[in-house]
Amino acid sequence: MTTPTIELKPSASPLSDAERDAILANPGFGRHFTDHMVIIKWTEGRGWHDGQLVPYAPISLDPATMVLHYAQEIFEGLKAYRQPDGSVATFRPDRNALRFQASARRLGMPELPVETFIEACDALVKQDEAWVPAHGGEESLYLRPFMIATEVGLGVKPANEYLFLVIASPAGAYFPGGVKPVSIWVSEDHVRAVPGGMGDAKTGGNYAASLLAQAEAAAEGCAQVCYLDAVERKWVEELGGMNLYFVYGNKIVTPTLTGSILEGVTRDSLLQVARDLGYEAEEGRISVDQWQRDSENGSLTEVFACGTAAVITPVGTVKRTGAQWQQTSGEPGEVTLKLREALLNIQRGTAQDAHGWMHQL
Ligand code: PMP
Repeated sequence: MTTPTIELKPSASPLSDAERDAILANPGFGRHFTDHMVIIKWTEGRGWHDGQLVPYAPISLDPATMVLHYAQEIFEGLKAYRQPDGSVATFRPDRNALRFQASARRLGMPELPVETFIEACDALVKQDEAWVPAHGGEESLYLRPFMIATEVGLGVKPANEYLFLVIASPAGAYFPGGVKPVSIWVSEDHVRAVPGGMGDAKTGGNYAASLLAQAEAAAEGCAQVCYLDAVERKWVEELGGMNLYFVYGNKIVTPTLTGSILEGVTRDSLLQVARDLGYEAEEGRISVDQWQRDSENGSLTEVFACGTAAVITPVGTVKRTGAQWQQTSGEPGEVTLKLREALLNIQRGTAQDAHGWMHQL
């Protein structure tokens, strides 16, 4: 199978500088999309073909297209950051490419070569470079690669045709008014994923499964859900879209990957960044009872969530059935902020990229 080259068919009518600047002044998250997208087709027997960069536009699907019925879909999320010299770099796109392959295997979909995934992201960012916010803040261009089953038919089976696409959306600072702790509802009724299920794949179904618990959290006055393991309903796994870290003084601990936790690129990067800063960093099992006990006795000094969107989010109030505690009293903890700054500085190009994580375009 040959690696497709992406044919460039740019838009004859991209947004004007003024229109784009108006969006970039207040982009929010996932609300606006750049002028172009990349599409690559896969057909059984032919492999990947017809890679194109085209104007951003709706795609037309037959009502019986398989993805609409059986959810054979996977996606990724990564960011491009403006560097101090004006160039643009993406953060660890190879890790996203590998996770995309792992998700594809789990859902019976074809694996896109790592170099094609990166080539597609690069082509879109290069074409729409003006959409990458200026250097300095926490703004970025969020890339959303995804793949859907496009065979038409209602039989339940792996499709024989797929579309891979990349779209891009400018993302404002997650905390425009300064980093603020988030409140967490620990769901003891709903689980996100089960052993042997799809929790470690980045597929839409996992997010659909999280919406009811998310509504429950909102009704409890909380912003995010923390999921426990599905078997004992005891061990802390992760949030709906972020991994968790527990800070015990100089040591940070993140739940061990069980197969039902998504292996975050940020989670992995922080194990390294923390060690670089002289902290101990490890994976381990933490029960919700231990979380509550160690917070109450003061040994658990900080808790934070991490992911591409917010990089690091401190945890404030934690609520579970019959109990509530304050992880931090209003202000984010010291370790949380140090790690956040250290990782952001690598991404913004203001700290040395000791591990070669930034992919220059
Ligand atoms: N867990 C889940 C369920 C997620 O959706 C995400 C976001 N991709 C993460 C963790 C964090 O992963 P990453 O650091 O790669 O964004």
